[in-house]
Amino acid sequence: MTVHDLTLIPAKSQPEDALHNAQHLIDGAWVDSADGAVFERRSPAHGTLVSRIAKGGASDAEAAILAARRAFDAGDWAQMSGKDRAALLLKTADLIDENRARIARLEVLESGKPISQAEAEIEGAADLWRFAASLARTLHGDSHNSLGKDMLAMVLKEPIGVVSLITPWNFPFLIVSQKLPFALAAGCTCVVKPSELTPSTTGILGELLMQAGLPAGVVNIVQGFGDPVGSILTSHPAVDMVSFTGSTQVGKAIEKAAADTLKKVASELGGKNPQVLFADADIDSAVDAIVFGIYFNAGECCNSGSRIIVHEDIAQEVTRRVVALSRKVPFGDPLHPDTKVGAIIHQGHQDKINSYVQEAVAAGAKVEIGGAPIQVDGLEGAFFAPTVVSSLTADMPIAREEVFGPVLAVLTFRTMDEAIALANGANYGLSAGVWSENIHTCLEFSRRVQAGTVWTNTWMDGFSELPFGGVKESGQGRELGRYGLEEFMELKTVQMRIGRSRTHWI
Ligand code: NAD
Repeated sequence: MTVHDLTLIPAKSQPEDALHNAQHLIDGAWVDSADGAVFERRSPAHGTLVSRIAKGGASDAEAAILAARRAFDAGDWAQMSGKDRAALLLKTADLIDENRARIARLEVLESGKPISQAEAEIEGAADLWRFAASLARTLHGDSHNSLGKDMLAMVLKEPIGVVSLITPWNFPFLIVSQKLPFALAAGCTCVVKPSELTPSTTGILGELLMQAGLPAGVVNIVQGFGDPVGSILTSHPAVDMVSFTGSTQVGKAIEKAAADTLKKVASELGGKNPQVLFADADIDSAVDAIVFGIYFNAGECCNSGSRIIVHEDIAQEVTRRVVALSRKVPFGDPLHPDTKVGAIIHQGHQDKINSYVQEAVAAGAKVEIGGAPIQVDGLEGAFFAPTVVSSLTADMPIAREEVFGPVLAVLTFRTMDEAIALANGANYGLSAGVWSENIHTCLEFSRRVQAGTVWTNTWMDGFSELPFGGVKESGQGRELGRYGLEEFMELKTVQMRIGRSRTHWI
């Protein structure tokens, strides 16, 4: 491969050093860390300094948890009418829309993702706030009127309490919006910890919530790292639930940290998501979806379509066409409006992506395109070439582990049973796709594949209305849809005797 084979977008201009300062939001006040510690974030594409952030310590995390506890126990938020909670969520959605450009730019500068995509994500996030508002008003439990003439029962849905929300760097604003408005609609109070790599837009969200009139202590934000802030948020006895999105490795550590106090844990973790192409697939559409599936967000996406499992009869043609289309995908300056794929989050991650490819090559794999870091003119950040790797066996790490980069693994099959065995062969079970013009093939695959979401003849569509989450090591619980709200609720059964017909026990 030469760089000329690819579509590279050079630096548009160097972003100016307009430093963003982020503090903690604790009990309605913006505060520095108790010990004054700060850390910095540079643009992964441009290398420029983007933000200086308060670096939370144990006492900051504790103060935020106790503020959320007091706000929950006081009951004002939990017992507020759904109508009033919804009004606040709707106001927040409007403020998100008004601030879209500002949030998107900061998101680009901290994450390296392209500006057009960041803007679409912020727009999608506002929709999540609006959807959660609709749930706040329509939420209800059950009544049981058929338990006998002297008995009536209700199943009440109550907010679970204080929730710690811990989010990753790949979709900072979108993912906090998959959790926070749903927790708030349920009546919970929260402590949020964004990733240390993308802290600032969650801070802006805090500003907008204050502007919308959220009472003090209902949402607290602690900036900082997994140690100590994340650890305290997942082990403190005053926290009732943890909602985590991130790596499977950290997800497992959180389950253990939460076990001592038996907190509920909802987790959205990694994936190794297959798109399976049967011989009768619409190849045109499938190839476009494969290219989208693997290069979207530079492959740094839980839903990355990082494996294709292709029927042997069409494997050569599909691979050739995926390679050809890969050359046309615009990689480069994330601030340029034409860019579709930006920078890798940091150099260490770039090295990890590269080592997966080199290890596969050493084991006999064939690199069809890419396979190495690339230099983009005028940008000092880490970029990885669009990469397609074939001649793989299913046991190779590149074929079964989450590479989290723009690296597509190609596997082949002959029968439905083989396709299912390959698809279900990884430890993950987040999403899967099937391409066939035969509805029976699509339905059989959908029913047999182990995944939280199955796309048939499409990839990575998402709706606020539809639940999202994984099985196996991709996590537990669901976000979005009405189930996304119910994750944050506890059930209480109330049984009422009407009349005095019960015979006494003694
Ligand atoms: P990560 O697990 O390294 O970090 C996620 C968050 O956890 C960060 O805020 C981090 O500071 C915090 N953290 C780290 N150690 C902790 C600890 N011991 N206790 C508590 N918190 C701790 O993940 P990442 O690198 O930020 O994100 C990438 C991962 O997230 C990938 O595996 C990806 O698949 C996954 N992800 C999943 C989904 C989904 O919906 N399933 C969505 C996006 C990302």
